[in-house]
Amino acid sequence: MIGVLDPSREATCTMGKRKSRAKPAPRKRMDKLDTVFSCPFCNHGTSVECRIDMKNLIGEASCRICQENFSTTVTALTEPIDIYSEWIDECERVNTVDEDGVPVEDDEA
Ligand SMILES: [Zn+2]
Repeated sequence: MIGVLDPSREATCTMGKRKSRAKPAPRKRMDKLDTVFSCPFCNHGTSVECRIDMKNLIGEASCRICQENFSTTVTALTEPIDIYSEWIDECERVNTVDEDGVPVEDDEA
């Protein structure tokens, strides 16, 4: 049987294929701390992981998708979210500052 493509039939086919939107889970107090965040560079929702090196007091956030990373000094009270928000702050600072003397690369092949 060679069927003619029927657009109305196509439409019904998508039923039940809807992706359920991921809702941010309500933050539980004193439970597991968030250590996974969305990446400011590739916008992947759960690709950034924060690590804290207590020995050297260095906090690191890195994206496993685009390999962007950020590190900063931490204290005993620093939490992963602090490292992440510092990274975001840093990104915003870079974005708001006019690229002085930095040539804009042309991506023409
Ligand atoms: Zn990324």
